[in-house]
Amino acid sequence: NVSRPSDVLESRILLPIVSEEQPIMEAVLLNPVVIICGETGSGKTTQVPQFLYEAGFGSPGSDNPGMIGITQPRRVAAMSMAARVAHELALPPSRVSYQIRYDATVSPSTSIKFMTDGVLLRELATDFLLTKYSVIIIDEAHERSMNTDILIGVLSRVLKLREEMWKSGTADVKPLRLIIMSATLRVSDFAENRTLFPTPPPVINVAARQHPVTVHFNRRTFSDYVTEAVKKTTKIHTRLPPGGILIFLTGQNEITGVCRKLEAKFGVNALERKRRQRESASNPADEHENANTDGGVRPAQADVEAEDIDLGNQQADDLAFDVDADMADDDPDALDSDEDTEEQQLDKELGLDSDDVDTPMHIVPLYSLLPSEKQMLVFKAPPPGCRLVVVSTNVAETSLTIPGIRYVVDCGRAKERRYDIANGVQSFQVSWISKASAAQRAGRAGRTGPGHCYRLYSSALYEHHFDQFSQPEILRTPIEGVVLQMKSMHIDAVVNFPFPTPPDRSTLYKAEKVLGHLGALEAASSVTKGLTATGDSSVDGHITELGRLMSLFPLSPRFSRMLVSGQQQGCLPYIISIVSALSVGDPFLHDEGLAADENGADIDGPELKEAERSRRKAFFTTQHTHSALGNFTSDVFRILSVVGAYEFAGGGHKFCTEHFVRPKAMEEIHKLRAQISNIVQSNFPSADAGFVPKLMPPNELQLKVLRQLLTAGFVDQVAVRKDRVEQTSSTGVKYTTSKGVAYKAMGVSDDVFIHPSSVLANAPPPEYVVFSELIRTNRVWIKGVTIINPA
Ligand code: ADP
Ligand code: MG
Repeated sequence: NVSRPSDVLESRILLPIVSEEQPIMEAVLLNPVVIICGETGSGKTTQVPQFLYEAGFGSPGSDNPGMIGITQPRRVAAMSMAARVAHELALPPSRVSYQIRYDATVSPSTSIKFMTDGVLLRELATDFLLTKYSVIIIDEAHERSMNTDILIGVLSRVLKLREEMWKSGTADVKPLRLIIMSATLRVSDFAENRTLFPTPPPVINVAARQHPVTVHFNRRTFSDYVTEAVKKTTKIHTRLPPGGILIFLTGQNEITGVCRKLEAKFGVNALERKRRQRESASNPADEHENANTDGGVRPAQADVEAEDIDLGNQQADDLAFDVDADMADDDPDALDSDEDTEEQQLDKELGLDSDDVDTPMHIVPLYSLLPSEKQMLVFKAPPPGCRLVVVSTNVAETSLTIPGIRYVVDCGRAKERRYDIANGVQSFQVSWISKASAAQRAGRAGRTGPGHCYRLYSSALYEHHFDQFSQPEILRTPIEGVVLQMKSMHIDAVVNFPFPTPPDRSTLYKAEKVLGHLGALEAASSVTKGLTATGDSSVDGHITELGRLMSLFPLSPRFSRMLVSGQQQGCLPYIISIVSALSVGDPFLHDEGLAADENGADIDGPELKEAERSRRKAFFTTQHTHSALGNFTSDVFRILSVVGAYEFAGGGHKFCTEHFVRPKAMEEIHKLRAQISNIVQSNFPSADAGFVPKLMPPNELQLKVLRQLLTAGFVDQVAVRKDRVEQTSSTGVKYTTSKGVAYKAMGVSDDVFIHPSSVLANAPPPEYVVFSELIRTNRVWIKGVTIINPA
């Protein structure tokens, strides 16, 4: 007895999935697991929960009284989909509810619950049988987020348990059902993985009406894709027939910037102003700028979605130049903004001012941290006579279907959590999307009729540098982080876990060991006995209290370790700076001095220009200044020093030039400090982690603590001077510098050497050091070196 509003009845009939209700419900009732594939917009997210609800799921007194749970990778989707389904079923938010980390509408009478996948994972930690649910829908499974993959693995076991308990009648539990939904047909990792589901689940494909979309590539790929997006949108708006425009960008800053620009050009107020100016040139219009539309954004939350983070880095673009430099133009059809096309020529001859248009734009931003009332605006029809323009992160790629889109502008990039293989650092980067994602984005233009997709990159770039599909997140995430997350959910047998795509077993073992060293897992003490111990002492340990605290941070466990223990002697702000700097990487331009240093004799002749000489001198002077923090004992303190000085100088390129640091890196470190401070604050509300950009240098006691914290975070990256662990020919020799002095590091068979760029390179070699980075060239070098116990 559902009574849907009449407008809903009408639009619902048109959804392809509605005609599949019968086969879907049959499959669900006959199988514990069902996979549903259907194009974005076919109605999966809004309709499948309703099918279940109408079949009695989630209603007290029925065969399946437990709630219908639906997970989403993004908060935006969880909230807006709950609201939409509530509207369609004409039920209050207390019946069709959502829960995201810091906000919820759930009540004791909730029947349908939308939530982020993180929320369900946390529930599993306290109620492994998910007794409150009768069915779980994992949505957007094609995205292969780490949470989704882990959830599917865990749920495969929960299903089994619930079924066994039901059969033996031991408890009052009913079997649980699982529905996996995907916007692509690529589901073999779930459907054909016998470890995961011994009986292959049925796959139901929902045919969707997709109109043809014409794809246009740019001739060249510009690094400033934000400007390109504005240009392209301007062209579409001024020349092409009515129809909504959807612009894909990577994050909030870009989106608000583009919205502002378009608003100033084509917003209702802007056009009105222009009109009035035209009407009475002598009477200038009110110059009051149309206020920027982005309202109060909630503070950063610990459930970090990549798009939430604005680092302003665009490494992906360095690539673009190389690729396009020698690629021929192969796409004459494109509506180009980078060159004067015939079309533009014609416009000029006809005297058309291409920016002149009477139709205003109705511009709507869409990103995770946007307040939810504003997010909902994308579903509203634009005011009559206006063109809808939605500027979005990739949340609009598959999570939300925005009606009436005819044109898509795709920047080809997305912000992603990335894993630096070299130093194990997790970061958020803008990088190229996959071909599959590009196709999804283009598809958004063909929901209501034929459409066009404008790609702000060249076809050569697309062909040569876009992966076919994006890799499952679990394979590009620091495995220590994955293992720690799983342990925090009390999944102890990580090595035998039924991953949809399992990471390499040996890396799982290694990760457990590292976590043991860091004190995150029990039974770790046996492993730390000897530095040279390489024996396979697998730690099948439970998580410790320390580990649990560490798991709250979306950071590499080493960094979490330092942050958790850093709440002493006011050290937290320094540790946050150190973690930020190590995440971004060494900001110093060491080559400036090194080249000169290594070849000093050769170039130190009369031909060495005075300018170069003084430049080198300046380099060594600032290196000397910053190395003085901690009295020439730590590369990390040298970085901490320059980060502090940068803030006191108020940043800027001048400072960077004078101190030989990379401006981009410094800017990123600055932003990351603010962001990590927020995360720390939200996890430890009592902690003194409020972001204070200008920090006084640490005092002696603090330096001592920082040294201990660094050692704790890199406890498995300790190196000992070789002549102290082994009797070698050089035992007993007194060295004056570290050059050529061999060290032994745990788990590394080759000798390692302190990198020439280190503070310690020209000082007598210390016995014990801890390092943050290991790089292999002709030798194995250690970088980010700190003396553990200075004299
Ligand atoms: P899928 O999950 O298969 O991608 P959805 O169930 O999300 O599809 O969307 C089905 C239809 O419902 C789409 O046409 C979409 O535009 C529409 N829709 C979803 N949410 C809303 C909303 N809040 N307001 C209006 N229409 C909506
Ligand atoms: Mg959906």
